[in-house]
Order: sequence, then structure tokens, then C-alpha cells
Amino acid sequence: MPVINSIADHKDEAAGWRQELHQNPQTSFEEEFASTFVKKKLTEWGIPFKDGIAVTGIVATIEGQKTDSGKAIGLRADMDALDIIEDSGVPYASKNPGKMHACGHDGHTSTLLSAAKYLSENRNFNGKVHLIFQPAEEGGGGAYKMIEEGLFKDFPCDYVFGYHNWPYMPLGKVAMRKGPILASADEFEIVIKGKGGHAAMPHQTVDPVVAAAQIVLALQSIVSRNVSPVDQGVVTVANFRGGTGAHNIIGEKVVMNGTVRAFRQETREFILKRVREIAENTAKAFMTEATVHIVPGGYAPTINSEDGVDMAAAAAIKVAGEQNVMTDAEPTMGAEDFGAYLMEKPGAFILIGQGMPDDEKSPHNYGLHSPYYDFNDEVLPIGASYFATLVEDYMPLDK
Ligand SMILES: [Zn+2]
Ligand SMILES: [Zn+2]
Repeated sequence: MPVINSIADHKDEAAGWRQELHQNPQTSFEEEFASTFVKKKLTEWGIPFKDGIAVTGIVATIEGQKTDSGKAIGLRADMDALDIIEDSGVPYASKNPGKMHACGHDGHTSTLLSAAKYLSENRNFNGKVHLIFQPAEEGGGGAYKMIEEGLFKDFPCDYVFGYHNWPYMPLGKVAMRKGPILASADEFEIVIKGKGGHAAMPHQTVDPVVAAAQIVLALQSIVSRNVSPVDQGVVTVANFRGGTGAHNIIGEKVVMNGTVRAFRQETREFILKRVREIAENTAKAFMTEATVHIVPGGYAPTINSEDGVDMAAAAAIKVAGEQNVMTDAEPTMGAEDFGAYLMEKPGAFILIGQGMPDDEKSPHNYGLHSPYYDFNDEVLPIGASYFATLVEDYMPLDK
């Protein structure tokens, strides 16, 4: 069975929604256009919803023809855009200067709407589906905020599922894996304070640049020497600012920041602890003082449950065909706040290919967050059929 027929039938309509959302991108908790758009569609189809969760977030609930199974499933789409100046050249390019749907969340939202339309028209299941339209995936932690505001208390789910379009994989292919698929992400900032002075008389100063340089190098020993070689992690110092601009002055301080990534919560916490210890103690050894700030709001790793991936694989195989579904995908060090849901509930986050390898110039081949990127509308019926199949298979009517 390829994509569900009645979902394929409204593909052009769904592409229209997607392109309208694409033209009206907004970022982090300001997704008023998308939120209003989603509510309009839900109202049109008679699907009840609760809005104002995490500002612009919405949860809609579709009941099956029967609900006595007591089962419930959560399906999630993110709605936010990015601070990027669009250069895709598509006729429906952003009308909001400096904002762009460069991660395809316009497509994710339209996919979930397409599934909603089908599920509400057919209700071929015994149980409930909660459709989670979330704000602020790109750094604002919208998933965490929705959970804090009672998402799973008000809308209990046995499993939760989501997907990301993947330009790095051809259209028609689907990838997933059991366990971690995306990494955690935490930002750290380190300020090293010394004592400034004449660059020709370093002994009368406490040079923060030399201390900071030692810290950058020492931080690289965390992954190579402290984390198990069969585990993974990243420590990157991405910015390093010090000095006054003059070649003959030693400045007062150095400020640096960067990111920590890991696939396991314990490794994440351990690396962050080591960043602090190494920075503080190395600074001390060089007579300076380091203040380490771990920026709150980091993302947990996205860890798929075993049974969630079994369900996801079965549904994806029905839609995309066995030869197109990879269940041992390589994880990536990118991050997603979907990990927040999977900390609470079993489920799976999968990748759906959108690349067009035979069409080199296609905007669907550009990487996520590129100003040339565009979501591939051919993904809509695949994603929506995948969501609908998950629901119908987990909560069959005849049992
Ligand atoms: Zn993104
Ligand atoms: Zn994204």
C-alpha cells in the first residue's frame, strides 16, 4: 500500500496550505499566522482543540469511531520559522523580511493538517489522536513549555510521534533508528578574568588570553579522554573574544562560548560538569578566574523507544515500501526539542527524505537552514499517510 488514496487526493490543497504558511513565517512563540491558520482548518473540519498552550501552541483531539480501547496517540508538528533572509526564489517566498521557513516546519504543520483532515473524515480507529502543533522548536524549547503547561496531563498519550523532512536523503526514503537519533544541545559561556596591562610587561599582568587558550585545548580532552570511546560527544568552542584591538595591550578578560552535544543524558550532564571543572581549575592554574555559565533551556537528546520504532517502521514500510525504509540510520549531532516528548513518553522521531538527486538545481536539495532551502510538497502525502497509518494500526477498529 503506497500513500493513502484520499490523502493523495488532497495533496494539491495541502501544498497550498504549505505555501501560504511559507509566505508568512514567524519565529519563537510569535507564530500567530500559523496558529490562526491551523485553528481555522480545525474549525472547518469540526475538530475540537485547545489553544494558547505555550502561547501559540494548539492541541486538537480526534476521536475514533470507537474510543473504548482507551488508547491514545500523540502526533506532533512544529510551526516556527528562522531569522534568515530568504533567497530561494520560489514564487511563495517569505513576505516577512528576515524571517524564513528554512527548516520546513511549514511542511510539518501542513502534513499534520493533512493527516487531521483524513483522520477526522474517516475515524477508522478505536481511541483518540492528539495533534500537537507546537511553537518555538528552533531554540525556544516550545516542546518543554507545552509539557510544563500540562500537555500530557490534559491530553494523555501512550506514544508520541513526529518527523523531520531530510534534504540529505532522496524523496521516498525514510530513516529511523532505535535509541538516540539526535543529540542533546547545550550552550556554555566562559568568562576568564585576568589583569590587563602593557603587552611588553606580561609579568605585571595576568594574561587571560594565555589562560583561555589553555582552556580551549583542555576542553578537547573531555571527549577524547573522559567520555568512553564507544560513546559520543562534542565540545566546540565557537567564539573566542579577548583583547582591546591594540597589539601592545593585554586585555582584562576573554569571553568564549560554544556548544556541548551528547546522545545520552548521563554523558550530557557529565560533559557539562567537566567543562565547568576544567575551565575553573585551568583558569586558577594560570592565576585567572573563570566564570562558567551553562545557558538554561538546553535540549535533551532525542531517544526513540524500541517499540516506538517498531510501530514507526511498520507504518513507514506500508507507506514507502520495505526497500525504502532504513531502520538503522546513523544518528546526527543536530538537536530537536522532540527529545522532550520522548523523555516523557515512548515513541519515535523519524526522517523523511525530500532530496531530488536527479534535479541538481532543486531547492529541496539545499540543507536545512539554508536561505535557498524549500520544503518538498511531495513529502506531504507520505508524512500524512505515515501518521494516519500509525493511528489506524495502533488502534484498529476491529479489536
Ligand atoms: Zn531547524
Ligand atoms: Zn526543524
